Amino acid sequence: MSKMIESLFYSKAGQALLSAAGVKPPLALNRYNGSTPWVNGTTLLATKPSSALQEVLAQANIQSQVFDEHVNLACKAILVDASHFKQVTDLEALKHFFSQASKHINVSGHIVIIGLDPQHCDLLEQAAVMDALNGFTRSYAKEMGRKGVTVNLLYTSSVNQALVTPLNFLLSDRAAYISGQPIYVHTGSPLPQDWEKPLAGKVALVTGAAQGIGAAIAHTLSEDGALVIGLDIPAAQQTLEATMAELNGIALATDITDDQVCTHIGCALKGKKLDILVHNAGITRDKTLSRMSDHFWQMTLNINLQAPINVTTTLDQREMLSDEARVIFISSISGIAGNVGQTNYAASKSGVAGYVRKQAQLWEHTGKTINAIAPGFIETQMTDQIPFMTREIGRRMNSLSQGGKPQDVAQGVALFAQPGSQGLNGQVLRVCGQSLLGA
Ligand code: NAD
Repeated sequence: MSKMIESLFYSKAGQALLSAAGVKPPLALNRYNGSTPWVNGTTLLATKPSSALQEVLAQANIQSQVFDEHVNLACKAILVDASHFKQVTDLEALKHFFSQASKHINVSGHIVIIGLDPQHCDLLEQAAVMDALNGFTRSYAKEMGRKGVTVNLLYTSSVNQALVTPLNFLLSDRAAYISGQPIYVHTGSPLPQDWEKPLAGKVALVTGAAQGIGAAIAHTLSEDGALVIGLDIPAAQQTLEATMAELNGIALATDITDDQVCTHIGCALKGKKLDILVHNAGITRDKTLSRMSDHFWQMTLNINLQAPINVTTTLDQREMLSDEARVIFISSISGIAGNVGQTNYAASKSGVAGYVRKQAQLWEHTGKTINAIAPGFIETQMTDQIPFMTREIGRRMNSLSQGGKPQDVAQGVALFAQPGSQGLNGQVLRVCGQSLLGA
């Protein structure tokens, strides 16, 4: 029944009726199709770049042009370096620039503002100005969402090479469903980045890889060049094998909560070390707290939080992670905003964020990084279970007015997996089209 209402709703006649009632259909977003360079066409710059920014743009293969209001240039990406702003009046430059330049950006384009991390500001007013960039970015992302355009903020301690990979990512269609986000880039010496096959030679393990988001992550990491080991429960073995066969990967049918899971992972690795570990396997067992059985509580906390912590700790202790390992957890905006009937799920997902932040501190002076993705409403079998009207509201409650796709989450994972992402550590990146939940 729910599926029938949905087909009617999305039929030509249904959409025409909705348009007449003032409900516009969402704009189709452009998603990355594997072409290089990542950024499509010329990036418009607000001002002449500093020599440090020129170096970053060159390393990222980004072609750029300084904005000239007399030149009619359509572009897919706009970049503003606001890291030198010191006074409140400096912010006016944003107003003047964007009121002109935003007419030049195409549908589903990408805007990035670079700011100085407020923690690194010595001057009081400068710290306020840098935080003002956050409010500006979030609001402007809501305005530009109507055009399918994303707007994000990169905070850094200085314009340096650690920005290369995150900047290239956020200006590209890899970031089609990420908007309104401040992302903190720590100074570091990222490893060299091959833009065509950035994960060539890497070994990745993806849990819950048989279907949904996990299968998309496995595909994306494989397209980026990694050898993927997909892990899923024995009951999903057939689907898992089919998914892994598509990408010449290795299927490992074992439960993440199994006492022997790390031994099984060791056998699949055949002496190699793990470069990328993605904890995607997860379940929901929704009930309001007074109706929730102990079984539902324990099962959710165990699969979503306890087991991934245990596996990461054991693999690290057994030295099965490479020196530059990238560990990525899938959290959820439910863990940020909370949700009725999801005390167990939300607790597990905010627990994931807490674990990632703490482990990142412990790994600060190593080559390893650990981060999390918090997806919003993503179209999968999990969200297919939600009744139609609730689902329709869920998918519309964000600046881009649509649900995300598994590949959007996969691209976020791939960002953290990059060799050049050394400066990203302990972050929780929302892939949610700037959801109103927990905003
Ligand atoms: P899904 O149910 O389609 O896939 C989850 C996979 O995990 C399944 O293949 C399942 O068999 C596997 N799995 C479950 N328990 C396991 C265990 N004990 N050991 C090994 N594998 C196990 O779900 P999805 O929508 O693809 O979600 C993937 C992740 O993204 C989950 O962690 C989920 O909480 C998170 N997430 C999803 C959404 C969304 O909108 N779909 C939003 C936020 C977060």
